[in-house]
Amino acid sequence: MNIILMGLPGAGKGTQAEKIVEKFHIPHISTGDMFRRAISEKTELGMKAKTFMDKGELVPDEVTVGIVRDRLKEPDCREGFLLDGFPRNLVQAESLEEILNEWNKKIEYCLHIEVDVNLLTERLAGRRVCKSCGATYHIQFHPPKQENVCDRCGGELYQRPDDSAETVKNRLEVNRKQMAPLLQFYAERGCLFTIDGDQPIDRVFADIAAVLEK
Ligand SMILES: [Zn+2]
Repeated sequence: MNIILMGLPGAGKGTQAEKIVEKFHIPHISTGDMFRRAISEKTELGMKAKTFMDKGELVPDEVTVGIVRDRLKEPDCREGFLLDGFPRNLVQAESLEEILNEWNKKIEYCLHIEVDVNLLTERLAGRRVCKSCGATYHIQFHPPKQENVCDRCGGELYQRPDDSAETVKNRLEVNRKQMAPLLQFYAERGCLFTIDGDQPIDRVFADIAAVLEK
């Protein structure tokens, strides 16, 4: 069961990944974890990636693909894997396809957790932080007892610039544009499955499980 998980930041990928891993017993391979591991084990590619990251630069595709390749070769991936955060672009998607072809494998499911961008913006832009103690609130889902006042310390709550509706919307738009050609790529290969992410967590997972158990 070779799976790619896609979705905008805030669409609930992390939560669903945990549930998939638990039910289907395949490793969750996130790019972040993979990089951290390659760097801590001081592999050649890990060290190469680190030189770019230390400079605050994007790691080149060939290095990222190499790290993914090393990871997918490990025995725990024999029965399948759940990729999260990779591929990020068409070059990476094509490289992944070549690697899997070599091993007579392929991506069987590209699960896209689709969410309404306006709802997602509302959710992400509702975050408030306490100026004094850093406690976080959400005006809708976790409001303070008194508007704009921290329950814990009485401090003033504010919205971080990163959480403003406009910034959130721009960030989501950038991500959506990045993701679009990838969704197209997997749609052409007949393995794109769109999941309605605007449902409660358990319903989203029920839909995912229904696809994977077919
Ligand atoms: Zn506080």
